[in-house]
Amino acid sequence: MSTAEARRDALVEVYNEASICERCPLSETRNRVVFGAGNADADLMFIGEAPGAEEDRQGLPFVGRAGAFLTELLEGIGMKREDVFIANVLKCRPPGNRDPQPEEIDSCRPYLEQQVSLIQPRVICTLGNFATKLITANPTGITKVRGTAQEHVIGRRPVYVMPLFHPAAGLRTPRVAEQLREDFQRISDLLAQPLPEGPEPLVAEGERELEPDQMGLFG
Ligand code: URA
Repeated sequence: MSTAEARRDALVEVYNEASICERCPLSETRNRVVFGAGNADADLMFIGEAPGAEEDRQGLPFVGRAGAFLTELLEGIGMKREDVFIANVLKCRPPGNRDPQPEEIDSCRPYLEQQVSLIQPRVICTLGNFATKLITANPTGITKVRGTAQEHVIGRRPVYVMPLFHPAAGLRTPRVAEQLREDFQRISDLLAQPLPEGPEPLVAEGERELEPDQMGLFG
């Protein structure tokens, strides 16, 4: 699975599967599944928490007020939404925008794992606590880790993870908005850096390679 076209086709299959998902009770309350959107071969991927009301209505990620701020932050570093891929930990809106529950995160996790392994980003920006803790497999809160890139291996691919405050927090607190703007300035440099060393191959030569949906990618 290496060409961008093959990876994109596989991502469309994951989209088709997710769009009729009934793996958790959120399928009973959602209007639309919000799979994610953008460039399927992006070097830069953003992972938020879960769709809100507007995302649930349109079936697209970050299209409400927090999304408008995310677009502004991207434009501030000369990028457009079409350049990146934007997804969420949960693909369905939790009623009343309550926090994602552990069993919902577990049910939805294979979709995110497949998105990461098919898009193959060089840099993943996690937005807020939920995405950061899941992707870094570390419970340290966002306030402590934001703005410093971490090296991770996801699947068998090295990647930089840049934890960021959630844009919705920036809308509530001007100081957080300022810190988001500062942290975004680091993204271009990070994209230009060579990737960290990859891991030793997990499978011996001649052995079957794991498909993305068979990998426990995060943590
Ligand atoms: N907040 C998120 O975390 N994701 C969205 O898609 C919208 C708001």
